[in-house]
Amino acid sequence: MSIFDSIRFVRNNETIYKILINGQWLEASETFEIKSPADGSIVARVQKASQKEAELAVQAAYDARTKIANLDASERAKILDKAGDLLEQNKNEFIDIIMKESGKTFKQAQGEVQASIDRLHYAADESKEIRGEIIKGDVASDKKSIGMAIKQSIGVLLAITPFNYPLFTGIAKIAPGIAAGNSIIVKPASDDPICLLMFGKIMQEAGTPDGVINVITGSSSEIGDYLCSHPKINMISFTGSSVAGKHIASIAGMKKLHLELGGKAPAIVLEDCDFNLAVKEVVTGCLKYSGQRCDAISRVLVVESIADKFVNAVLEEVKNWKFGDPRNPDTMVGPLINERAAKKVEDLVNDAISKGAKLLYGGKRYALGYYEPTVLDYVNRDMRIAWEETFGPVVTIMRVKDLEEAIKIANESEYGLDACIFTKDIDKAFDAAQRIEAGSVHINAHPTHGLGIFPFGGDESSGLGREGIKYSIEDMTKIHTIVLHTH
Ligand code: NAP
Repeated sequence: MSIFDSIRFVRNNETIYKILINGQWLEASETFEIKSPADGSIVARVQKASQKEAELAVQAAYDARTKIANLDASERAKILDKAGDLLEQNKNEFIDIIMKESGKTFKQAQGEVQASIDRLHYAADESKEIRGEIIKGDVASDKKSIGMAIKQSIGVLLAITPFNYPLFTGIAKIAPGIAAGNSIIVKPASDDPICLLMFGKIMQEAGTPDGVINVITGSSSEIGDYLCSHPKINMISFTGSSVAGKHIASIAGMKKLHLELGGKAPAIVLEDCDFNLAVKEVVTGCLKYSGQRCDAISRVLVVESIADKFVNAVLEEVKNWKFGDPRNPDTMVGPLINERAAKKVEDLVNDAISKGAKLLYGGKRYALGYYEPTVLDYVNRDMRIAWEETFGPVVTIMRVKDLEEAIKIANESEYGLDACIFTKDIDKAFDAAQRIEAGSVHINAHPTHGLGIFPFGGDESSGLGREGIKYSIEDMTKIHTIVLHTH
């Protein structure tokens, strides 16, 4: 017996998951299959919601918005803490499904589930810290007035999530959304939506009132525009590609937008770096979860004076990253989410090679989404891989004259999410960190964002707004002003 038995059933030997609308687990008229990136087998089927179900979910969230807004902060905190406890109790099922539907290794899936549990508890604590302020009317016309700026919930939040952290990204929106007193419609990525359906059940069991959490699966081409342009939705928190984010911004209308989009993180490696640390961090930043991370290092800008030595050391390090089936406990680089993703990486690598880049390692695509860890040297500005998001296991080396050239190339990108710099000279590091145009700059480590204690987000094509436990809660509230005029 599992608590998830009530959200799924078996038909013709296939497990089928339902969707959550207004506290009920429902079927739509069609379903679609979820395939394992590891071996192509069918993991399960999920509902293909149409605009009819999308409308029901919006209406449910709209009707429930006052139920959650009117709960005390301590009651909202209790729901989030209980959800964290329930996730902990059921973590093995979550790890198992994330491995199956996303093709993650055990360690990667375990890390994602643990971060999700921790984030729920942090958000519970933070929900009790939502404060406004009292403002004295301090100019002649307002002298006798006192204003109260109160934080209120936004109302109905649409949370759209990508495939690469299928559980954590959802929880990074649901937890602050509930802490801030909003009702939510969750639309998970169609590649791996099952873990968020299961989390819908966790939220229900944790005591969320009916209609406050709705989770619907379905194709973005059918329900995406309908949801994003719906007048009853007050805010969209979207994590995904820049192309989709920009499209959503163009059709959303009068809604608050939080957009966490693509990245092209540079790693600047200077001659005075801690050499061994830089090699390890750069390779980890490029290859972790097969490079399928918005914060992945995807341009290594190494100064010419140490480039030969650095590239040789990188090559030796990359050989330690075992490539293969993610179910094998030794595997460190598993498959990409699907064949389309691997073909895109292949195109970028082939384009670079055709324009003069040197392939030093890997470069081969296999069946499904398997793409070998790859090292490309002598990448230059004319190559697509210097500018387009790779989202694959490629170490892309660009040799630069000095720090100034590195910063210039770093800032030429349309993206501005993450960057990192390796040097032992702290003055140089701070100076560069302030001039690099990115939401976060990491000194002497690859970009990584943990639980969300630090604000995280990007500029330009990388998005709008900052995520993080406290920052997301702030973003998901609005200021309501009451002014007392004394006479
Ligand atoms: P994606 O193709 O843009 O899809 C993301 C989500 O948006 C999915 O749920 C997708 O639904 C939905 N979607 C797509 N078009 C839509 C539309 N017109 N209206 C409404 N929803 C729409 O991205 P992905 O391939 O899943 O994820 C990888 C991307 O996410 C990369 O670019 C990565 O950098 C970015 N990312 C950014 C961050 C960050 O914090 N900045 C974190 C993680 C990932 P369907 O699956 O049904 O199409």
